[in-house]
Amino acid sequence: MAEAGISFRKEYGQNFLTNRMIPEEIADSCADEEDSLILEIGPGIGCLTKELAARYKRVVAVEIDKGLIPVLDKTLAEFDNITVINDDIMKIDINALVSEYSEGMPVSVCANLPYYITTPILMRLLESGVKFASITVMVQNEVAARLAATPGSADYGAITAVLGFYGTVRRLFKVSAGCFVPAPKVDSAVVRIDLYDEPRYKPDDEHLFRGLIKAAFEMRRKTLQNAISAKFPQYPKEKILFAIRSIGYDERVRGEKLSTEDFVNLANKLV
Ligand code: SAM
Repeated sequence: MAEAGISFRKEYGQNFLTNRMIPEEIADSCADEEDSLILEIGPGIGCLTKELAARYKRVVAVEIDKGLIPVLDKTLAEFDNITVINDDIMKIDINALVSEYSEGMPVSVCANLPYYITTPILMRLLESGVKFASITVMVQNEVAARLAATPGSADYGAITAVLGFYGTVRRLFKVSAGCFVPAPKVDSAVVRIDLYDEPRYKPDDEHLFRGLIKAAFEMRRKTLQNAISAKFPQYPKEKILFAIRSIGYDERVRGEKLSTEDFVNLANKLV
């Protein structure tokens, strides 16, 4: 980077992995098929990108920072199966990108995500409609705990319940802050989401299903009945209670106890 006359850009969440072991381990665990297209978000200076290219058929890496492109040209010069695209993952057409490069291969995402924008990136990937086989991301340790939490635990949140709609989540391993340059303030962890081949849940009203999760976690300290009633005044309280009881809970339950499936069933009962 010094050679290229550039420095770290904090606004892009640039904390780069510099040892080899962690990128190797992430690359090893991010996809099952060698013949895969890997979409990497934020290649940085290319430490993880290299390891992905060594293991999988094709890598497409989207990097927002134009200044890093000449650095990547150098660090990735030995590989002919990598395409680096200078763009913003929040703006690029992910569907078009994947169709252009996948050639029928399974597609997985692998990224050491910029921490300022972890959840929006995850949601954009999941809502893109692309049939990813898996999404493996390094995130802050506490975010990893949230993503992989079980219903009723302190870490369980709206994002956990929403993720359950798309697939299953595993926390793979922790990575200490010292493995990055510059070192972030907190440790990180790698999380893998395996997406369902076919949608596992088909709520009658998906908008309501998502709305219930939002209501439950925005008003975490209220009972679920009161949280739903505040957000959806069109449903009389006794109907809400009837729906809650018919999925096996009582009037005192809080939303944080409900699994993704419970939220789907609750939405269906309300409909
Ligand atoms: N993959 C590298 C590594 O592991 O060393 C870099 C990871 S660094 C935490 C995050 C990277 O994402 C940076 O290179 C940053 O410039 C890039 N980035 C940040 N926001 C982005 C966005 N919206 N779209 C694409 N890349 C982005």
